[in-house]
Amino acid sequence: MKQEKQGIETVCVQGGWEPEGGEPRVLPIYQSTTYKYDSGEQLGGLFDLTSDGHMYTRISNPTVECVEKKIAALEGGVGAMCTSAGQAASLCAVFNIAGAGQNFVCSSSIYGGTANLFAVTMARMGIEVRFVTPEMKEDEIEALFDGNTRLVFGETVANPALTVLDIEYYASLAHRHSVPLIVDNTFATPIFCRPFEYGADIVIHSTTKYMDGHAQVVGGVIVDSGNFDWEAAGKYPELCAPDESYHGVVYTRDFGRSAYITKARVQLMRDLGTTPQPLAAYLLNLGLETLPLRMERHFENALAVAKFLKASDKIAWVNYPALEDSDQRDRCEKYLGGKCCGVVSFGVKGGREAAMKFMNSLSLAKIVVHVADARTCVLHPASTTHRQLTDTQLADAGVSPDLVRMSVGIESIDDIINDIRTALESL
Ligand SMILES: *Cc1c(COP(=O)(O)O)cnc(C)c1O
Repeated sequence: MKQEKQGIETVCVQGGWEPEGGEPRVLPIYQSTTYKYDSGEQLGGLFDLTSDGHMYTRISNPTVECVEKKIAALEGGVGAMCTSAGQAASLCAVFNIAGAGQNFVCSSSIYGGTANLFAVTMARMGIEVRFVTPEMKEDEIEALFDGNTRLVFGETVANPALTVLDIEYYASLAHRHSVPLIVDNTFATPIFCRPFEYGADIVIHSTTKYMDGHAQVVGGVIVDSGNFDWEAAGKYPELCAPDESYHGVVYTRDFGRSAYITKARVQLMRDLGTTPQPLAAYLLNLGLETLPLRMERHFENALAVAKFLKASDKIAWVNYPALEDSDQRDRCEKYLGGKCCGVVSFGVKGGREAAMKFMNSLSLAKIVVHVADARTCVLHPASTTHRQLTDTQLADAGVSPDLVRMSVGIESIDDIINDIRTALESL
């Protein structure tokens, strides 16, 4: 509350951990699975959810809790829950309010790992995902909803397609059907976009990417805006009716605006164990301290790379939402203040072979299956992550054979450009 009024840079550095006199200045790592109590009654209160405190690190931990408070403040939410991976955040965010026999509506422009989770693994749990594709007209989108639809899902800046989500449109779509909008804000980060300000109800992140920013720890987080009215929606008994696994707790009655995130923790985290380690939270916290500085540099460097590539006669096309002539430019302006993350995709003239040769000729930019950390890296999906596909199948997946995805880091822009120039000259 005090924190939300501070500048985002201040929250990144000082949020979450507020030491008392004589306590460590820096967030300590509470590497403990367990906590000690003065009496059985005190512990009983924790089991009944009538008192606050830590019980067991599978459910909560003081180091992790401080980082959760920081991220909740950064997004402007009422609470957050860190998870073992971004995938676990997507899973828990959806599964918290959707079960077997129910469905949800999802933008088709999402990360491939999320698409697999939703379309294959969650299908096995009896939950059906219904994708909104770019060609769909309004009535076709409306027809995706029925009485069993429980949420809408999208990605602020899609990995790797780099399409910018029209958050206000998706929020109005969701709210018209009395369901919440969940937004994966991984690529934008709260530095460039705070989806709650445009009507999103829940935000998730793969903290593995820019939040950690150093390619060191896999992690995820779910943030609850506290804005969605679960009782008024009339279709979420899991939040509005007694939970027998806690002798009759009613999340909306007992936890008010924090109902959703409280249930995610005390029920899903308790039962699934998708818990982050205290050390992982500590490292994530270090990354968060410099997030605003790094995002600005990622943006400056990526824009310079995108402009350089555009000017090269060896490059067929460049996709970067902040470019003047990008078809994403208006939404990039509206939702990201005209800025964007460090990921740029482009096509090398000469197709698959030329793209491969270009990638192999880079030296500063390393070939890595990752994006969004301090080091510049590059991937040619057609010969790596999508190598089993034919050219026709690649086209259906939105990955052309000439596509190179570069995650521009925060090194000297001169060195990054020189590396690209040398590799292009080798073609
Ligand atoms: C990487 C990624 C994920 C998955 O996160 P992990 O931390 O790798 O489990 C989810 N969403 C987006 C946008 C991502 O880039």
